[in-house]
Amino acid sequence: MTQLLRHHLSRPGLAVTVALSLVLSASAQTRITPPKNSYSPADDVKLGKQASAEAKKQLPMLNDERVDSLVEEIGRTLVGGIPAELRHSEFRYTFDVVNQKEINAFALPGGPMFVNRGMIEAAKTEGEVAGVMAHEISHVALRHGTAQATKGQKFQIGAIAGQILGAIVGGTTGSVIAQGSQFGLGAYFLKYGREYERQADLLGAQIMARAGYDPREMANMFKTIEAEGGNNGPEWLSDHPNPGNRYDAITKEAASLRVEGRANTGQFESAKARLRGMPPAPTAEQIAHGQTRGGSGGGTTRRGVQVPEPSEQFKTHDAGNSLRVSVPSNWRAFDGSNTVTYAPEGAYFEDSGQTAFTHGLEVGVTQGTGDLQRDTGQLLRSLERSNADLQVAGNPRRDNVGGRDGLTTPLKNVSDVTGQPEYVALSTTQVGDGNVLYMIGVAPQADAATYENVFRKVRQNVRIGR
Ligand SMILES: [Zn+2]
Repeated sequence: MTQLLRHHLSRPGLAVTVALSLVLSASAQTRITPPKNSYSPADDVKLGKQASAEAKKQLPMLNDERVDSLVEEIGRTLVGGIPAELRHSEFRYTFDVVNQKEINAFALPGGPMFVNRGMIEAAKTEGEVAGVMAHEISHVALRHGTAQATKGQKFQIGAIAGQILGAIVGGTTGSVIAQGSQFGLGAYFLKYGREYERQADLLGAQIMARAGYDPREMANMFKTIEAEGGNNGPEWLSDHPNPGNRYDAITKEAASLRVEGRANTGQFESAKARLRGMPPAPTAEQIAHGQTRGGSGGGTTRRGVQVPEPSEQFKTHDAGNSLRVSVPSNWRAFDGSNTVTYAPEGAYFEDSGQTAFTHGLEVGVTQGTGDLQRDTGQLLRSLERSNADLQVAGNPRRDNVGGRDGLTTPLKNVSDVTGQPEYVALSTTQVGDGNVLYMIGVAPQADAATYENVFRKVRQNVRIGR
């Protein structure tokens, strides 16, 4: 107010323009009122936190610094544009990129947001990414998830997080969300009706303008998403249905807004280049089937793995090569070309010919020279070649392998599957004809002691020859 007056005194012409545009935007900008909500903002935070922790466990996070930094910076800028009356001091807006092909994004109550890599790849400009994010932030700020639950039956907050997650993770999100809506559960928090969509479009446009992005970029992004169609396009659209004349409504709102400054992280092109250099993102279906291994160049896909404890009971399996191997009875045998891997349910992964396991033991026989030390060194080098992070963690020690003199070498590695440190034990002994029997035990570093116990039993009890 005082500033306008001062302008008026010194430069009357300018004062008139400034005053006019303020009046205009104040009158033309659509007023958005948050819907009725019987939950507290703290409830939003609580269930968003739970669902977010679970999402991070179950979805492959891209974990690429450059791409994350792009999305975080856009996000922070947009959060600065949320109108004061819609700020909740409890809310924490966070931004993560999921290594997933489908063009999608979702935001959880209280602020955690996840943007699929496919969304960034589809966007033509930084402003388009900002458009989707501003729309998502608006659902959070208006507390649409819990407002929608308010309209339905009353839920226990604790029970909700899992239901949200069922909707996110259970496979091709679209179909699972459809199931969710059948049961009236996860759908409340991720799939919105036309009125909430209209609100998120308009508030999103306002937030963009206040943050320095052109709101018309949001409309452009929606066109881009629609145009993608096919298998990967409509997913976001089915969660965020077009409230009708979406493009025109946003453009009209944009005309009433003044873009304040010009937001630009300057990181969009380099992030896109970074994504182009990575192996393609897995689809939702591949993620649901656990085929998320094989990312590299910073794009390694990682997942949490949960497996049952090794059974106390052992069973014996014929591994070929005149080998009989006793392993915990709840481990399965997976035949490779020249090896057998024994692993519990949920620990063995196969992806376009490549295999990996997080818990268990691989057994094989390879040609040797008759010198066990030298042959063991050879095996170690070939293991190092196929596992970039593998390191020897101690000296080889003499060990009993199937009642023979053997060597066991402790190693450490970073799991391809989980991204977590893992314990590896390579045991070798000579078998007939100068060949070498090898056994490679693998377990998360945190469970090394438990599994080393099991590996030792398996080593000692392997029967070689008839
Ligand atoms: Zn929406």
